[in-house]
Amino acid sequence: MYDAVVLGGGYSGLAAARRLMHGGAGCLLLEATGGLGGAGRCGQVAGESVEWFYHHIKPHDTFLLDLIGRMGLESSLLWQETSMAFYLEQRLYPFSRPQDLLRFAPFNLADKLRFCAGMLTSRFTQSQNLAGVSAKDWIVRHWGQSVYRKMMAPMMRNKFGIPPERVCAGFLHGRIKGLAATKAKGVSGEMLGYLDGGLDRLTRRLGEELAQSAETRLNSPVTALERTKEGYMVHAGGRSHAARVVINTLPLNYFARLPVNFSFESRVKYQGVACALMALEGPLELPYWTNILEPGFSCKVVVNQSRLGRHRANLVYCSAYLPSEHPLITAPADEVRELYLKDLRAMAGPVELMDCLVTQSPVATPVFDVDYRQQIHNLQGRLPGVFFAGNATIYPHSRTLSSVIGSGRQAAALALERLASGAEAA
Ligand SMILES: Cc1cc2nc3c(=O)[nH]c(=O)nc-3n(C[C@H](O)[C@H](O)[C@H](O)COP(=O)(O)OP(=O)(O)OC[C@H]3O[C@@H](n4cnc5c(N)ncnc54)[C@H](O)[C@@H]3O)c2cc1C
Repeated sequence: MYDAVVLGGGYSGLAAARRLMHGGAGCLLLEATGGLGGAGRCGQVAGESVEWFYHHIKPHDTFLLDLIGRMGLESSLLWQETSMAFYLEQRLYPFSRPQDLLRFAPFNLADKLRFCAGMLTSRFTQSQNLAGVSAKDWIVRHWGQSVYRKMMAPMMRNKFGIPPERVCAGFLHGRIKGLAATKAKGVSGEMLGYLDGGLDRLTRRLGEELAQSAETRLNSPVTALERTKEGYMVHAGGRSHAARVVINTLPLNYFARLPVNFSFESRVKYQGVACALMALEGPLELPYWTNILEPGFSCKVVVNQSRLGRHRANLVYCSAYLPSEHPLITAPADEVRELYLKDLRAMAGPVELMDCLVTQSPVATPVFDVDYRQQIHNLQGRLPGVFFAGNATIYPHSRTLSSVIGSGRQAAALALERLASGAEAA
């Protein structure tokens, strides 16, 4: 019997397993796919190992930076000033420096003043105080109807995948504050980091460390969870594993399908993502990050990866968050590639594709609902001996590699406490 079984080998699962191992617990980590890292995994494009979803590191990603340091990779961190823009009315509008706001033609003078007032208000607001408040109401109150309509509403639809009135203002506020925190002194853009060689280097080191005394099973999708007198029986990949405690990092809608002899209900819903990582013949004249507000585009964000880190190829991500049942989430890869390529050419002129990696997921992140705090209320206490980590547990901060690492450590600490107390599941 294992002390603990961790479900899922993304960064929350890896962090939980690592903490359990260092706490002296016998631990098994089960991962459905053939590799560790979850949404932070890399794929091969034009002969390079690159994250299949764009990933940057922020200076305040303390749990991630701490882990990178512990794995001896600190010297591989590359920090760069980045820039961002909006694409609308068939034009690219830079939006990194204060003077960019002055030149932002879609805004009139009143909009510009309201925008500044809104940013100022958000500086003195706490995200926690915005639980249950609709992002639309909050933006209209502080930024005004016109800024909401021209910029915030289309951005929120792109980012959060649900109507702005249903988005929790706490999440939006957390993102605005996060953006302000990455503005370094003396530079105009955001300071962002990238791990030279890609996140797979960090994942590999973590896997090697875990191999010292924890067990990892890849290609082992968890299919059922049974409550026993001593704890739980986890069924995965045709085998059964007894455990005193379980740490779940799977999406809650997946987890809710596992129970055999007990019930678990969750109202948390997920949004999907369809992302294409492209290697192009030549460099793109685009900033690091472009939000697309132009109606009719399938791709909602373009990330010019060649502006972050060191890459041999000219790399760009075209991506969109979508409802999990959207046809693009299950469309053939070449359909996604052609749609996004058409958008990219409309924006940036002729581009020639050398290689492309399309990655789709129906469960990229939980939907940022206005009552999200209620949806995860008392999650850690719902099932004796089951602790939760990962994206679903993060509120109201951004769901990042760093925050899920923190959640994995915290869930493992709770699990170790329970193991030490000798409590049983029943
Ligand atoms: C498009 C995109 C861009 C992002 N950009 C950034 C960024 O720039 N910076 C940043 O910090 N974060 C970014 N993130 C967020 C970050 O990737 C996630 O917060 C983080 O990877 C979530 O980790 P996790 O362990 O909670 O979940 P996941 O990484 O989803 O891991 C869950 C794991 O469980 C496995 N699994 C699923 N079902 C089963 C099953 N039945 N049995 C066993 N295993 C199963 C999955 O295969 C997966 O490996 C981005 C995410 C996306 C989608």
